[in-house]
Amino acid sequence: MHELSLAQAIVEIATRHAAGRSVCRVECRVGHLRQVVPSALQFAFALLCDGTELEGAELVIEEVPARGRCRTCGSETLMTAFPLQCEGCGGLDVEIAAGQELLVDALELEEQMTTEGICHGR
Ligand SMILES: [Zn+2]
Repeated sequence: MHELSLAQAIVEIATRHAAGRSVCRVECRVGHLRQVVPSALQFAFALLCDGTELEGAELVIEEVPARGRCRTCGSETLMTAFPLQCEGCGGLDVEIAAGQELLVDALELEEQMTTEGICHGR
């Protein structure tokens, strides 16, 4: 399952930042091109968190739309479906500008009830 390895990456980042503290919420941003099924990612996340300091933590997923720049005509396109195609000229030679990210944005820790900002890309 594709989502399981992504969930694993999220859990690793969150665990490192939590440093032994209890986590009640993890906010992440996932690019559209990752083709993640949010419910499957949440399921895998809950599975991996079982028995760790992340147990019971809520995973909040924000989807990032895919954007690309055409190498032929230079226009920017918001891509919602495959194949990735330029809206300007219909070309397929599109450079990906956004949509491939997998970021853990923030952790909400139980004791402090504060949100710790994280910017950690993969
Ligand atoms: Zn174009």
